[in-house]
Amino acid sequence: MATTDTPITLPEAPKVGMVSLGCPKALVDSERILTRLRADGYAMSADYAGADVVLVNTCGFLDSAKEESLAAIGEAMAENGRVIVTGCMGNEAEAIRARFPQVLAVTGAHQYEAVVEAVHEAAPPSMGPYIDLIPQAEPGDVKLTPRHYSYLKISEGCNHACAFCIIPSLRGKLASRRIDAVLREAEKLVAAGTRELLVISQDTSAYGVDVRHETRTWKGREVRTHMTDLARELGQLKTPDGHTPWVRLHYVYPYPHVDAVIPLMAEGLVTPYLDIPFQHASPNVLRAMKRPANEAKVLERIRAWREICPDLAIRSSFVVGFPGETEADFQYLLDWLDEAQLDRVGAFRFEPVAGAAANDLLDPVPEAVKEERYARIMEKTEAISAAKLAAKVGRTIRVIIDEVGEPDEDGDVGATGRSQADAPEIDGAVYLRNVPESLKPGDFVDVEIEEADAHDLFGVIAS
Ligand code: SF4
Repeated sequence: MATTDTPITLPEAPKVGMVSLGCPKALVDSERILTRLRADGYAMSADYAGADVVLVNTCGFLDSAKEESLAAIGEAMAENGRVIVTGCMGNEAEAIRARFPQVLAVTGAHQYEAVVEAVHEAAPPSMGPYIDLIPQAEPGDVKLTPRHYSYLKISEGCNHACAFCIIPSLRGKLASRRIDAVLREAEKLVAAGTRELLVISQDTSAYGVDVRHETRTWKGREVRTHMTDLARELGQLKTPDGHTPWVRLHYVYPYPHVDAVIPLMAEGLVTPYLDIPFQHASPNVLRAMKRPANEAKVLERIRAWREICPDLAIRSSFVVGFPGETEADFQYLLDWLDEAQLDRVGAFRFEPVAGAAANDLLDPVPEAVKEERYARIMEKTEAISAAKLAAKVGRTIRVIIDEVGEPDEDGDVGATGRSQADAPEIDGAVYLRNVPESLKPGDFVDVEIEEADAHDLFGVIAS
């Protein structure tokens, strides 16, 4: 475990090179694979030499295209040697292996999960709470998202300079993806079985700032590269069986323009859930942290949002023991939490990260004080969570199923799901008893809540 004397050194992100051949559909596939890999913490390499592994997305439509694909694989083998083949020609794995027995893996067209898994095996991602957007159950425990929910990464990098963070130096300035490409990817994901989209970036509310919110055409409409337009368009998607998929916004800062997405939540187009990494509430600490959207009116804004959308769930994370945090600052945070009544809270004890500006700050908080504050914030937020969940007992709420169990000795089947207030991996669960065996992950069901504890809900499918 690191202490304040030993800054955590982050591993470098593994680099993936990509050679994309073939038609526009193959290009979209390449883009989707790369988006997924970026979300998993990989960096891209523009040349063979810098890549830990090279992906060759092949085309096998015509013999000439096959030859071109084989030549591309040959070049990647010669230049790098660690090669994964995917795409249309991946369906002819034997022909590829006959010519290049050393290729690491061969997967067919549209087998995104298999490609990503092969990359994970060939060059394991460097995971950690300081750099990963996708939450993990345990450090190093890399889990591919199940088909019924998918992460949708909308931008890379960040324009802020928070004192404890090295993302801008690792990943660079904000670079937003084209909104039409993001929407196309979302549409494909939903058509392929995704029932819940998790929008991620370093700062979702800043989406498009770098491209001055440029306008693109999508389905004959003009859409801005902007969080509001993105949320509105994602809210219009439909699953093949006619459901509105859940759209969950992560890493949102409480800028005034966020107000515009709350009515979309009230209308049921966007999941009434905001993941806002407040990190602290005391103005002194926020100033020292150099946090964005650090303004006094946040509580008023939260109150106004809840008036428009009473079911809005807010999740956040907080750092305790930041250098210079006094007892008064910490008490301010606890009082603020009493007012804000956040639904889900994660807390962390401050630890220096190699290269972060916060390491040079004076007044480190002693470890014992950090521990004590951590215990106090956990106690406070658990009590708030328990009261909020207890208020749901007796209500019927919509749940998405994540897992269906095996029948027990009495033949009863249980299932685990999540409400709209629960993002996968980081929030709570809804445990269901006596579900039909035909229930599947990704199904939406209405659940009558019978019990609650500090984190989870328990219930039965409403009749
Ligand atoms: S907003 Fe701050 S904490 Fe988040 S990525 Fe940017 S610099 Fe890091």
